[in-house]
Amino acid sequence: RAKAEGRGRWRFFEPEMDTRMQLRRALELDLRRALAAEEFELFYQPIVETESRRVLGLEALLRWRHPERGLLSPDRFIPLAEETGLSVPIGEWVLTQACAAAAAWPGAPRLAVNLSPGQFANRGLCEAVSAALRAAGLPPGRLELEITEAAVVQDAEATLDTLHRLKALGVRIAMDDFGTGYSSLGYLKRFPFDKVKIDRSFTRDLDQSQQSDAIVGAVTSLCLGLDMATTAEGVETEAQLRVLHRKGCAEAQGFLFSHPCPAGEVPALLRRLDTALLEQAVLS
Ligand code: C2E
Ligand code: MG
Ligand code: MG
Ligand code: MG
Repeated sequence: RAKAEGRGRWRFFEPEMDTRMQLRRALELDLRRALAAEEFELFYQPIVETESRRVLGLEALLRWRHPERGLLSPDRFIPLAEETGLSVPIGEWVLTQACAAAAAWPGAPRLAVNLSPGQFANRGLCEAVSAALRAAGLPPGRLELEITEAAVVQDAEATLDTLHRLKALGVRIAMDDFGTGYSSLGYLKRFPFDKVKIDRSFTRDLDQSQQSDAIVGAVTSLCLGLDMATTAEGVETEAQLRVLHRKGCAEAQGFLFSHPCPAGEVPALLRRLDTALLEQAVLS
């Protein structure tokens, strides 16, 4: 009877599973096609010093300019790219593209690039990073690689090995979205991060929630003690910026300064933020 029931179930689910697999397969083919057709594009968002509002760097953020579906954000396609192994070639394209763009910008701000867990676990990562740096003539110290907790939870030994090999190249490493996921303080002790990016969920209600103020303050002083910089993500208001500065968080990123913008607009964006700085200096 169990057997019959089992078979009945299988028949019931089969068509649905089939459709899902077909949809996935179609999306995968679409992703492969997009890579060849150069439909990916990088946007850039400034990272700013809370004290002076000086631009310290730019984070590259991936977009897919899909012919039918419009401009897609990475949350819509990175998970599938990750499942299908396509995050490795896509990630190499991102590294090459971002390093070349950053090498041409004035004022030499730092460049931040996100790595997916699959990309981080890939054996060819260090070679891909140094190839991108070499091709662009970008000094390694100007590149910062952002990894999330999902990349480090898998295997601590392998993580440490990869981090050391990357750091030997001279690049910097940031822990992205800190405070979400399985965040353990142990990671901060164990892994040689240069920076911790405090997740937007803590920045969002800064100045309105005593808890968030306290968490951001504690993470900032903890990182200071560990010789790691902190960047607050998702800063949208002056009030949030004031709290961050007061809590000793030296760097901020968010819509308050700029939305992510296409590479072609970066020089004008840097000029605009620079001018705002000068005006502020004259006024004060
Ligand atoms: P992330 O690295 O934490 O990037 C910050 C995200 O917050 C970006 O979303 C950015 O547009 C958004 N953001 C910035 N300032 C604000 C703000 O003030 N308010 C709000 N509400 N949001 C803000 P985006 O570009 O959609 O990227 C989402 C995530 O996708 C990134 O999170 C990153 O984990 C991933 N990602 C982006 N580019 C790449 C890439 O080239 N490779 C990989 N593997 N992942 C990427
Ligand atoms: Mg990031
Ligand atoms: Mg983040
Ligand atoms: Mg994020």
